[in-house]
Amino acid sequence: MSRFWSDQVAGLTPYVPGEQPKVNNLLKLNTNEHPYGPSPRAINAIREQAGDALRLYPDPNSTALREAIAQAHGIGLDQVFVGNGSDEVLAHVFHGLFLRQGRPLVMPDITYSFYPTYCKLYGVPRQVIPLAEDFSLRVEDYTATFETAPAGIIFANPNAPTGIALSLTEIASIASAHRDSVIVVDEAYVDFGAESAVALLPEFDNILVVQTFSKSRSLAGLRVGFALGSSELIQGLVRVKDSFNSYPLDRLAQAGALASFLDTEYFEETRRAVMLARDTLQGQLLSLGFDVLPSKANFVFARHPQYEGAALMQALRERQILVRHFTAPRIQQFLRITVGTQDDCHRLYTELSRIVADTP
Ligand SMILES: *Cc1c(COP(=O)(O)O)cnc(C)c1O
Repeated sequence: MSRFWSDQVAGLTPYVPGEQPKVNNLLKLNTNEHPYGPSPRAINAIREQAGDALRLYPDPNSTALREAIAQAHGIGLDQVFVGNGSDEVLAHVFHGLFLRQGRPLVMPDITYSFYPTYCKLYGVPRQVIPLAEDFSLRVEDYTATFETAPAGIIFANPNAPTGIALSLTEIASIASAHRDSVIVVDEAYVDFGAESAVALLPEFDNILVVQTFSKSRSLAGLRVGFALGSSELIQGLVRVKDSFNSYPLDRLAQAGALASFLDTEYFEETRRAVMLARDTLQGQLLSLGFDVLPSKANFVFARHPQYEGAALMQALRERQILVRHFTAPRIQQFLRITVGTQDDCHRLYTELSRIVADTP
């Protein structure tokens, strides 16, 4: 507490991101970064921008990037919003679309932990629905009529940190049950095997899809995310953005993201390599006695019936491997392990098999 803080600050619960260690030689499987670098075309495009042009402000509307995204999805330019990472896009969503006369925002108990943080920041009341015993999202809980019509419903698909995905039919049934609520589908991991709700946009003006360049395009360091939806929803976000920061994407980010987005060949190749490594890793973890949730993401969420998640995380750390452990109820036993290269996964598997064999 400080006497200088504004009234709201003491009450916030800031999000704690996964560790970014300064030490070398650590195998980082803790923040769902892509193991392969970004497209070489993206790096070239960024280099080209790193010159005298930096004197000038960037395009405030990131038009070229938005046009490429719109075209690829067969939607209008006015249906694409970009921001400084999807976390910023999500922040504008909370501010611009979820603050509606005290109506709640509905979300699962286990999901991306930034959502509760934004609820606190913007004063959005939260209504939490527990996931089923097997950590799947029970669709009938979301198609039900709520006491107060929610301002919105938000979930990640595939969900984080479970990796479990909903089908488009399931998402459509949630959206059609609440036509006056904004249904936000956070697709940070969709490119690793789930179906994108972009296909539902022609039918639903209340669905907003949020995606990022951080995971499947290996550009976490560039900070680019985007939202797709009806122009009405997008306009709401633009109004917040232009009241907050007109230039959320710098010149390097716009150029790098555009070149990356257009390099479909590299994108396909690298995301497929990750999916393949994931499927191998899931099998290996099962063979070590882990329960593994069925993942459509670039991470696996697994627990061992005989070992505490925190203890396994610590043991791996001593062997120079970082994985993520959450202390939230229901998931303390679990580790969230980012899928690396085949070699990374093999190193993890080897160390885990030693840990599991060593300790009684
Ligand atoms: C990583 C992640 C984000 C944030 O992505 P950035 O674009 O890097 O801000 C948003 N949602 C989920 C579910 C994520 O896992």
